[in-house]
Amino acid sequence: MNIILFGPPGAGKGTQAQLIVKKHNYFQLSTGDLLRNEVKKNTNLGKEIEKIISKGNFVSDEIINNLLKQTIKNLKFRDRIIFDGYPRSIDQANNLDSILKEYNQKIDLIISLVVSREIIEKRIIGRVTCDKCNLTLNEFFNKNEIELHPCGKEFFIKRKDDNLETIMSRFDIYTKTTQPVLHFLSKNPNFQKIDGKLEIDEITRKIDTFINF
Ligand SMILES: [Zn+2]
Repeated sequence: MNIILFGPPGAGKGTQAQLIVKKHNYFQLSTGDLLRNEVKKNTNLGKEIEKIISKGNFVSDEIINNLLKQTIKNLKFRDRIIFDGYPRSIDQANNLDSILKEYNQKIDLIISLVVSREIIEKRIIGRVTCDKCNLTLNEFFNKNEIELHPCGKEFFIKRKDDNLETIMSRFDIYTKTTQPVLHFLSKNPNFQKIDGKLEIDEITRKIDTFINF
């Protein structure tokens, strides 16, 4: 089955995608990787892409569709693609549908990892590290573990995180720009929401129940 993994930066999408790849022998498709690989292969298209990117411009949907087709028609990846961070617009979602149809495939599962702005923020600002053993925990989510930590809870220190603003603004932009496509995807009968607040392995377990039916 082909899967779309949807969720804001910081929701743990990458981690889950990698786990699915390992466990179920999937191919993780992100358009960023597709573009980088093409540049690396030094094909004519790759040279064109490099030019566009180096000027700071966006690669057209047409180029991306071309690259998507190459992957989707590859029998090695048939019905085992996990789309990570794609589609990001309704146009892209429609394009993806028609390319899949062309090769007699479809999206069989859409997983939406839902995490609130507040949780993402707490994950960043609550991060504390043990000065003795380097264990990183979170003062909001790991209260007991911090209390019982063998080195002593007084060793946990908080490092100032300069990335907070960047991460939160990426979160806001993502949420705003992908709202229409999320709404569009949610009408698909194979759409499943998962609470991104859950522990990583709990999320994995939930995803597994959708994959092994
Ligand atoms: Zn420690």
